[in-house]
Amino acid sequence: MDLTQLSIWHSYAALVVIIALRYVVIAGLLDFMLWRRPAQKLRAVKLTNLTPKAKIIRHEITLSLISSFIYAAPGAVLIHLWNEGGTALYSGPVTSAAGWVYIFLSGAIYLFAHDTYFYWTHRAMHHPKLYRMTHAGHHKSKQPTPWASFSFDPAEAVISAWFLPALALFIPVHVGVVLILLTIMTLNAVLNHAGWELYPQSWIHKGWWGRHMITATHHNLHHTKFTGNYGLYFRFWDKLMGTDRNGV
Ligand SMILES: [Zn+2]
Ligand SMILES: [Zn+2]
Repeated sequence: MDLTQLSIWHSYAALVVIIALRYVVIAGLLDFMLWRRPAQKLRAVKLTNLTPKAKIIRHEITLSLISSFIYAAPGAVLIHLWNEGGTALYSGPVTSAAGWVYIFLSGAIYLFAHDTYFYWTHRAMHHPKLYRMTHAGHHKSKQPTPWASFSFDPAEAVISAWFLPALALFIPVHVGVVLILLTIMTLNAVLNHAGWELYPQSWIHKGWWGRHMITATHHNLHHTKFTGNYGLYFRFWDKLMGTDRNGV
């Protein structure tokens, strides 16, 4: 399906379905493999002995489906503006060395910008004055499962959904990079809420990856201890601002 050929309402509807399906399929698959299979065969380490409650999971799925309607809106506007030639999105083959350098550079810029925006808005949403209205829904489960990965109160979804589409109005980015970023975003969210650590323990305890990147070990502590560890992809801001609480 070529979303660029659709009207803004059709592309909105298509995006709602794509975003919701992506969540249900990926979260469902990981939840099945980690939490539902009687003989757990994935090489993963369970992070706590807490048992996720079915009632809370149902609530998280409901919030996530509502979030799909919110996230799709700025996405549909971006596609519409792209049709009109009013964005910094570009496509087509990358033919020069400088073009390839920029592919990686733009990916890094977007990841860092997203991480920065997420850290500061997430930290602000933990302020007692904002928490109930914006972020309590995400923290319903003390021990998250993959179903928590997209479970945001509508106010939190509104705060976060516009950021990347708005960035794509100003900072040039190839459509292929956007698709890779969306994949990274989804996998990162699902893995960090898995409740199990899937990365090798040597990476987490001794390696570069565990020192600098956020994985389930790091984000699970945000949910169970409820203090610190506000970052999205990198531990950079948590370390810089003294909010890094890693149990390893
Ligand atoms: Zn939080
Ligand atoms: Zn979380």
